[in-house]
Amino acid sequence: GKVDLARATSDVIDAVSVLSAERQVRIVMEGPETGAPVHGDRDEIVQVVQNLIDNAIKYSPQGDVIEVVVQPEVTLEQASAPWSGGNRGGGATRLPLVTPDREPGLRYAAVTVRDRGPGMAREYLPRLTERFYRVEGQKSGERPGTGLGLAIVKHIVNRHRGGLTVESAPGKGAKFTAYFPLAAPRGAAGSRDFRMTAGRRT
Ligand code: ATP
Ligand code: MG
Repeated sequence: GKVDLARATSDVIDAVSVLSAERQVRIVMEGPETGAPVHGDRDEIVQVVQNLIDNAIKYSPQGDVIEVVVQPEVTLEQASAPWSGGNRGGGATRLPLVTPDREPGLRYAAVTVRDRGPGMAREYLPRLTERFYRVEGQKSGERPGTGLGLAIVKHIVNRHRGGLTVESAPGKGAKFTAYFPLAAPRGAAGSRDFRMTAGRRT
């Protein structure tokens, strides 16, 4: 089906408002709040955005601001490039965690979640999407989790032939970007059939 990534994202922000208020964290969505149609399963795409925002809330100190941006149309290169306003002082490492098959001309809608929390050292970044992986030294008592969120994100993004990047450094917060193939307007030249590569639609 067709899913509006921007609307799904603003819905997630509404849905977590109790949690973010409890943690005294403010979520600010920049850019359009509707109008980024992608191919896929709405519940799964919501799960991707939800996991990224959950992490940003969980790892943000009280009183912090989390920025969320949906870019309605980017190329693969743009989707994995630093956004303007970039990595706050430099020194952050950007790493692709999921890279889609390259199809020339394919365009994506991207959602980026940026926090100002503790960030992560470069050495941890490649393993973030492993099941049960949690970064050492982050107190599990205060920030409980199973280490499955980003593994699920990777799985869903893969199924949608999308991508995922992370950009972070210790003390510089974390920025995650997930992107999905844009749904071409109905009947437009170059529009393709979308099929899930796994799961219930195969
Ligand atoms: P779960 O999502 O299953 O509740 P989790 O949040 O620990 O548990 P993931 O979402 O998979 O698991 O994240 C894996 C690890 O990556 C986290 O335990 C944490 O160490 C690190 N991490 C993820 N997002 C951030 C972030 N925004 N800032 C700092 N560290 C992060
Ligand atoms: Mg998580």
